Amino acid sequence: MLLFTPGPTPTPEFIRHAMNAPSIHHRTPEFEKMFAFCKESLIAFLDMNEAIMLASSGTGAMEACMLSLCAKKALIINSGKFGERFTKIAKAFNIPFCEIKNEWDTSANVDDVIDALKKNPDIDCVFLQACESAGGLRHPFEEIAEEVKNINKDIMVVIDCITALGVEFIDTHYIDALIGGSQKAFMLPPGLSFIGLSEAAIERIEHRNVGYYFNLKSELKNQRKNTTAYTPTINLIAGFAKYLEKVQFIGFAEVYRQTKARALATQEALKAVGLKIYPKIPCLAMTTIIHEQYAESIRKVLKNDFALNIAGGQDHLKGKIFRINHMGLIEPHEAVWVVNALEYTLDILGIRRFDGICNSIFMQYYYNCMNYNKE
Ligand SMILES: *Cc1c(COP(=O)(O)O)cnc(C)c1O
Repeated sequence: MLLFTPGPTPTPEFIRHAMNAPSIHHRTPEFEKMFAFCKESLIAFLDMNEAIMLASSGTGAMEACMLSLCAKKALIINSGKFGERFTKIAKAFNIPFCEIKNEWDTSANVDDVIDALKKNPDIDCVFLQACESAGGLRHPFEEIAEEVKNINKDIMVVIDCITALGVEFIDTHYIDALIGGSQKAFMLPPGLSFIGLSEAAIERIEHRNVGYYFNLKSELKNQRKNTTAYTPTINLIAGFAKYLEKVQFIGFAEVYRQTKARALATQEALKAVGLKIYPKIPCLAMTTIIHEQYAESIRKVLKNDFALNIAGGQDHLKGKIFRINHMGLIEPHEAVWVVNALEYTLDILGIRRFDGICNSIFMQYYYNCMNYNKE
């Protein structure tokens, strides 16, 4: 079965192999060396002051950031399931918040953020996704982050980059906390999350000193010495080290270029057979198609006839959309197989005759994006 869901993504053999090594103990120089490599690579890759690794899925890091950084009131951008998750965390901990809520195909806009900050001068923390995976949209998070900092540099900007890290270059200049997770572009099994921190975020974390398992102050203190407060996900960190080695060898810029080429080629191929992209501003991590009538049948045929697993929708979009992953290191022949299989599926369902146009458009866009024709 080909796994093409926007998380979890398939774990390639070179990473599985690294995680298969005999277990080592975490209070040892061997582990500390591996941890140091991951942490330093992460700090350099994010271009931030510190980076923390937690033994949790991405949501753990979201919770840790909200607890540690929000002292008064949160502003939460909610254009889907993951934005909504920040509101649920706030409710669970009785943290006051206001919310900018949009339909799942609609990105936040800067003016609404400015407006909310003016009306609520007690907001000290802003939370949003880089890519909201519920509908596959991209928020203008760079613009929002910069504007928040222009208004008041003491407001913490927290960006959930779980489906943007390793997908595209992220300018962290105006970001205080950046959240990542293992099972998306890093192609690891779930269970390891990441937080990149600015100097201002570190100050607030150390001043507040809240939480127990997710106490970022004690994690910072330990992780600066290349150890962790509690038992880390040793094998996942071994796999992460391998991912970093591999991508440092290929070059992050090259991985971004390939991901963008796959995403744009897929979008164009699917548009050519009359399919409709759901979000108004799509992210590069996944392609989301809305097909109210056939989304579920399309997914079923792909799974049963083509051994291809893609994601559906949740809540009110259940049965109405499907999402195809572009995160991680994916061979072009696998990506083109997906659009081919989809085009065939439309034929099987009697929606459109197969003529191979998806394959042709995908290849044209892919080669164009990769500039192969200019060499
Ligand atoms: C996958 C994902 C998460 C994390 O979810 P977990 O199940 O806790 O790993 C958070 N935000 C976004 C945007 C995601 O895509």
